[in-house]
Amino acid sequence: MNRPVEALINLANIRSNFALANKLSGEASVMAVIKANAYGHGALAVARALPESDAFGVACLAEAIELREAGIAKPIVLLGGVFDSTEWRDVEHFGLQVVIHAQEQLESFLAYRPDQAERQFVIWLKLDSGMHRLGFSPSAFARARDLLIDSGKIQELVLMSHFACADEYQSAMTDSQLALFKKASGGGGDPLSIANSAALITCPDSHFDWVRPGIMLYGANPLTEQVIVDVPLLPAMTLRSRLIDVRDILAGDSVGYGGQWSAPGAARIGTVAIGYGDGYPRHAVNGTPVLVGDKRAALAGRVSMDYISVDLSDLPEARVGDEVVLWGEGLPVEEVAAMSGTIAYELLTGVRSRVNFRYLEE
Ligand SMILES: *Cc1c(COP(=O)(O)O)cnc(C)c1O
Repeated sequence: MNRPVEALINLANIRSNFALANKLSGEASVMAVIKANAYGHGALAVARALPESDAFGVACLAEAIELREAGIAKPIVLLGGVFDSTEWRDVEHFGLQVVIHAQEQLESFLAYRPDQAERQFVIWLKLDSGMHRLGFSPSAFARARDLLIDSGKIQELVLMSHFACADEYQSAMTDSQLALFKKASGGGGDPLSIANSAALITCPDSHFDWVRPGIMLYGANPLTEQVIVDVPLLPAMTLRSRLIDVRDILAGDSVGYGGQWSAPGAARIGTVAIGYGDGYPRHAVNGTPVLVGDKRAALAGRVSMDYISVDLSDLPEARVGDEVVLWGEGLPVEEVAAMSGTIAYELLTGVRSRVNFRYLEE
């Protein structure tokens, strides 16, 4: 038998989450963000499952080319723009839209001579509205906008920015970013875009012309736990494996590397075929939940590369071969992330290629 580790990808749930995003967006167009292999779910499968999406957002040229070569004809936006001036030729040939967030990118675009004379581009110009990671300052943004328009190579200019704290409830940072974005981008009638998943859910004032949901499409709640907003998102990935060993140990016996968990009394320990070599987080603490059948059991001891141990003392019926869910249906990935000092985004994108991916069609 192969290692029984599987990531089940429920495309119908992704479609349902997209429909919710689309409904919340009102009149705005929706760009489904499928960078990093659709947050670990498989970019091509997700793109094919979302024919209603107005555009797809990816991180870089290689991610876009993979989709184009597989026949995805929808607009594709390089959210990270070009990393090198030589990429403009492929941008032209594959018909891609591009974010320009830095002076070097702007200059290389202005210098680029399209193979096809008169060729025009859809450019997303990014303002740094306060996150201070990427984008132009307000004054440089205004200059960049003028230069782009004067270049004669612009079919459409979308003005964009990105929130730093939209996952927090009533963040002063979000208010100030929104105000700065409005001020810096107003006047010209260009389409505007700033909302990620969190802002799409909590901040209707930020929807403008394009919303850019990512994490919510995969069914993880984009909001920090203090914010309880009832959004019926459905988990898209269920990571599961099986119990491959069950043993009884005595009070005081320790489990796993470093002997870092000891049994408080006589205990039943299950070994599950999943580990950090599959993308299960090594920093998951004792007590992190897993589902054995439909009952919860707690992680006991350190995560190893190929195995974890769980305390089955309260599950006398558990047997070798039983299915174990690490996250997904019945166990929110956010909960496992919180127990591991990380976020759902990292767990979902971190599932390794040795895991078998299975796609459930609608
Ligand atoms: C990743 C990304 C998004 C999506 O963010 P979520 O928090 O996953 O919704 C939106 N916009 C840009 C520019 C991004 O890079």
